[in-house]
Amino acid sequence: MKVTEHIKQSKKTLFSFEILPPLKGQSLNEMLDGISPLMEFNPPFIDVTYHREEYVYKKHPNGLLEKVSTRKRPGTVGICAALMNRFKVDAVPHILCGGFNKEETENALIDLNFIGVENVLALRGDAPKSEGRFVPEENGHNYTNELVSQIVGMNNGKYLHEETETGFQTDFCIGVAGYPEKHFEAPSFKFDLKNLKAKVDAGAEYIVTQMFFDNQKYFDFVKSVREAGITVPIIPGLKPITTLGQITVLPSIFFLDMPDALMDELEKCKTNADVRQVGIEWAIQQSKELVDFGVPCLHYYTMSKAATVHKVASEVF
Ligand code: FAD
Repeated sequence: MKVTEHIKQSKKTLFSFEILPPLKGQSLNEMLDGISPLMEFNPPFIDVTYHREEYVYKKHPNGLLEKVSTRKRPGTVGICAALMNRFKVDAVPHILCGGFNKEETENALIDLNFIGVENVLALRGDAPKSEGRFVPEENGHNYTNELVSQIVGMNNGKYLHEETETGFQTDFCIGVAGYPEKHFEAPSFKFDLKNLKAKVDAGAEYIVTQMFFDNQKYFDFVKSVREAGITVPIIPGLKPITTLGQITVLPSIFFLDMPDALMDELEKCKTNADVRQVGIEWAIQQSKELVDFGVPCLHYYTMSKAATVHKVASEVF
C-alpha cells in the first residue's frame, strides 16, 4: 500500500523507521533479527537507505596507487524484498540521482515494481567523500525534481526512448526530503523552499524531514511549507542521540543545531549509558510533543541502533 494511503487510513500517528543496509560482507538476517522487536509498534512501512559508490585507493606492490570504486552498503533492492516477505510491511527504497544515469534509474524502478514495491523516496544524494561537490552522471539528474518527473513519467506509462505513452504504468507513491534547518547548499531558506515546492509540483506526494532536535524548527518549517502552498503530509524524522561523539558529528554531517537544553543535559553525563539515557528521554519528549501536534507519522533514523528506538517507541506508541 502507498505511504499516503497508510496515512489517510490511520486515525493516529503512525510509527515508521529507516534502516541502513549492512556493511558489505555482513549478514542481512542478523540485521533483520535486530529490527524485529520494532514490529511490535506496527510500522506500516520501513525505509531502506541507498549508498552510492565511494572511491578508495588500493596500493600495488610497485607502490602505485589505483583508484577503485566500491559500494560499502549494497543490497537496497534485495533488503526491500526481504522486509516485505518476512514482516509483511511496505518497503520504501531510497532512489538517488547520484551515481545513476536515467537508464539505470529506469531499470532499478522496473525491478522494484516487479518485486511489489509501491513507494520510493527520491533523493539527490551527496557528492562522494573524495569529491567536493555533487556532479550528476552523464545523462543523469542534477536535482531531485528531475528524478521525480522521471518516476511520474513511468507512472504514466512513459519510458525512455519510447515514442508513445503506451508502456505499462507503474504506480509509485513518491516521497522527497525536506530540511527544517535548510539544506546546506541552499543560499537561503526561501530558495530551498522553492526547490521543495518544485519537487512536490513534479509529483512528490509526501515529505520526510531531515532529523532535528528542536521541535520548534519543525513547527516553523511546517508553517512555511504550508504558506508556500505545499499541502502534502510532512513526516518528521527523529534520531535519539546514543553517543557523546554525535554532538559534533551530527551537526557537521546534517547541518543542524543542538538545542542548549539538550547540550546542558549531555554535558552532565559521566558514562555512555548516561548519554544514551539522555538521548532516549529527549527523543521521547520530542515524540510526544509531535504526536500532540498531530503529525501523521514519526519516522526514526535507527542508524543500526534499533534497541534505542524501541525504548523510545515503548513510551510513545
Ligand atoms: P534536492 O532536492 O535536489 O536539493 C539539493 C540542493 O539543491 C538543495 O540545496 C536545493 O535547494 C537545491 N536545488 C534543488 N533544485 C534546484 C534547482 N532546480 N536549481 C538550483 N538548486 C536546486 N542520501 C543518500 O545518499 N542516501 C540515502 O538513502 C539518503 N536518505 C535520506 C533520507 C532523508 C529523509 C533525508 C532528509 C536525506 C537523505 N539523504 C540520503 C541525503 C540527501 O541525499 C542529501 O541531503 C542531498 O544533499 C540532497 O538531497 P535532496 O533530494 O534533498 O536534493
